Amino acid sequence: MTDFDVIVAGGGPGGSTAAGLVAADGHRVLLLEQEHLPRYRIGESLLPATVHGICALLGVRDEIERAGFVRKRGGAFRWGSSPEPWTFSFAASERMAGPTSYAYQVERTRFDTILLRNAARLGADVREGHQVLGTLRDGGRITGVRYRDESGREHTATARFVVDASGHTSRLHHAAGGVREYSPDFRNVALFGYFLGGDRLPEPDAGNILCVAFDAGWFWYIPLSPTLTSVGAVVRQECAARVQGDRETAFRGLIADCPLIARFLRDAHRATEPPYDRLRVRRDYSYDRTTLHCPGLVLVGDAACFIDPVFSSGVHLATYSALLAARSINSSLAGTVPEERCFAEFEARYRREFGVFRDFLKGFYRLEADARSYFRQAHRVTGHGTDDRAAFADLVGGVSSGDFDVFGEVLAEGAQLQLRGLLGAEAGEEPPMFPGGLVSTPDGRRWQTASGELPLV
Ligand code: FAD
Repeated sequence: MTDFDVIVAGGGPGGSTAAGLVAADGHRVLLLEQEHLPRYRIGESLLPATVHGICALLGVRDEIERAGFVRKRGGAFRWGSSPEPWTFSFAASERMAGPTSYAYQVERTRFDTILLRNAARLGADVREGHQVLGTLRDGGRITGVRYRDESGREHTATARFVVDASGHTSRLHHAAGGVREYSPDFRNVALFGYFLGGDRLPEPDAGNILCVAFDAGWFWYIPLSPTLTSVGAVVRQECAARVQGDRETAFRGLIADCPLIARFLRDAHRATEPPYDRLRVRRDYSYDRTTLHCPGLVLVGDAACFIDPVFSSGVHLATYSALLAARSINSSLAGTVPEERCFAEFEARYRREFGVFRDFLKGFYRLEADARSYFRQAHRVTGHGTDDRAAFADLVGGVSSGDFDVFGEVLAEGAQLQLRGLLGAEAGEEPPMFPGGLVSTPDGRRWQTASGELPLV
């Protein structure tokens, strides 16, 4: 008998989603988070698939609505060869039109706290101030973790499955075998901070993300409240020296080199209250892994992979992979689908979703193209009967991306997620993403075959 069915390392969006969905299926879940929430995190711009799909499945969509986060209806880009900014709206997408055509810009202190408290509400034993130190192994299987509690005492706990959701600083991911591979295509450095009093895009787009390319890279400009703005410079590897030395001087210099951002910030001043009072740097954040799971251990979110901030895909990939892991664990624990088959489905879907973002992003960083050609490219890879602009909205809304052959299924999964979140069991039948592959059960929490036949063991 193990101490728990599942141990989750990390209480960010990935960990809270996995813990919540496994606990809601009736299993004993321990979630260990090294910090106390609320705590700071970068990754503030969300996608509609997260808000209307995952958050609805978790039962927190209304609470997030009530939290009053800024509504993101789309975005504006000064990007590529067009001299003028161009915009996209989620509402241009047929798949997101209507009640799901927006996401939120969130203060991660508050958003992550809502998700973590919700995991506890769904039945997970959430312990903050508890740091996972390593895994326990019995032969070829991970059987639990070593962790340190708040008083500094070390413990062990056993479980049928361990979920590593401990983010980019994970110390567990090596236990899955394989290696973390840093992307040769995305080797940027980010320097970011917070301002009060910056300009807004005209209504109804005041809550949208603004991305502005300039000589050394690009800026994000994310409104987090009517007055607070997250501003980050993503600098190409060749210009990384510009981020070395004094951060304040470097940031001022980068802003001065980007006239549109400088104009938006002309009457603004830097925020002075924690956690927004300092400049931060992140590098080496674009990576993938050759192995995403092994018997007893599964990696989700940044512990597994992350690609690039430009399409705000991080929280989407973290929560989506957590959903896939939760379905796999729930089905394995219920004994309805063989464990290997569950995790093969987890890995195939996760790799596909990550891959389509990565592949579209490679083209998007070719700045000699103009807006129309990005829209056209989106249309080409989606192959939908919608217009170019709508196809682009699909892509950046998190319900689609990637090349034509795989796009339909990825889109179908994103759309299914939204539908399932909204309609639950009434969402109807879902086609398998891969020939002979699995589909989710009507409640979205486990796997089954397309014909619904169970058990498969
Ligand atoms: P995290 O959010 O990192 O959470 C991991 C948790 O694990 C933390 O709470 C941590 O304290 C805990 N932990 C770590 N180690 C241990 C341990 N040993 N024991 C116990 N607990 C532990 N994404 C977006 O969606 N939108 C954006 O606009 C965006 N912008 C970004 C900009 C930059 C510059 C970068 C680098 C990333 C950005 N991202 C963005 C990505 C986003 O930050 C991540 O993808 C997302 O936070 C991943 O969620 P997660 O749950 O996997 O990990």
